[in-house]
Amino acid sequence: MALYTCNELLRPARKQGVGVAAINLANYETAAALFEAAEQTGLPLIVQMYSRMFGNGKAEAIIPMLRKMAEKCSSPIAVHLDHGTSFEQAKAAVEWGCTSVMFDGSNLPMKENIRITKEVVKFARKAGVSTEAEIGHVAMGDEGHLTVPEEALRFVEETGVDALAIAIGTAHGYYKETPKLDVERCKAIADVLPGLPLVLHGGTGTPLADVRKVIRCGIAKINVATEYQDCFLKATRAELEKLDGKFMPVDRFMDPVREKCVEHAARLMRAFALQA
Ligand SMILES: [Zn+2]
Repeated sequence: MALYTCNELLRPARKQGVGVAAINLANYETAAALFEAAEQTGLPLIVQMYSRMFGNGKAEAIIPMLRKMAEKCSSPIAVHLDHGTSFEQAKAAVEWGCTSVMFDGSNLPMKENIRITKEVVKFARKAGVSTEAEIGHVAMGDEGHLTVPEEALRFVEETGVDALAIAIGTAHGYYKETPKLDVERCKAIADVLPGLPLVLHGGTGTPLADVRKVIRCGIAKINVATEYQDCFLKATRAELEKLDGKFMPVDRFMDPVREKCVEHAARLMRAFALQA
């Protein structure tokens, strides 16, 4: 049995100055590869799904499978809702079996973000589930704005949230230019929130050396979605080309694709977990 809340994985990580990978899966293959990577590395892992999958029946069907896989895995695993859009969605995620939920109100006025986050924290805590929220805004095809340390402190004090996603210069998706991380800002936020795990969204394409720097400054959870899923797509494309129009049963076709995903996830997990 290796099912944990994010809090149980992230508190010790922040204390030790190491990072835990939080990787977005989207189907059986991208999920199974994550568990294989966790088994290979012996490291804790957060398996997560984007909010869209909680609105179309996919997450509801996949979560029981993830819990079963976690029970068989010898590494600690948390199952997380990424970028929850409402209290109702976070509630559903808890009821379907997530051990951690994010509510993302980073585009709302601060007051509204606090109000809904508070509700989510209250409901989740009763169910023994941990929480993440965001203050400042990590760009998602829109305009981002950086997190202010005083606002972060006020937000955590008023909501009681377990982990905080902060905006320090990353963005979601692939970058046109290499992002520049505001390490000093990260350190200032970590200093006003001792012990609280901070979360870096937009891990894709951020130079590992920079990610290592902010892990030393309080980042305990690193979200990676785009580059992991792109690894799946690229490997699928390569296998289709090899097949050259011939038939192969899909389960066998997927085996080498999954292998590529295992390698990719294991590499990220090891890089984030290196002690400073
Ligand atoms: Zn994100």
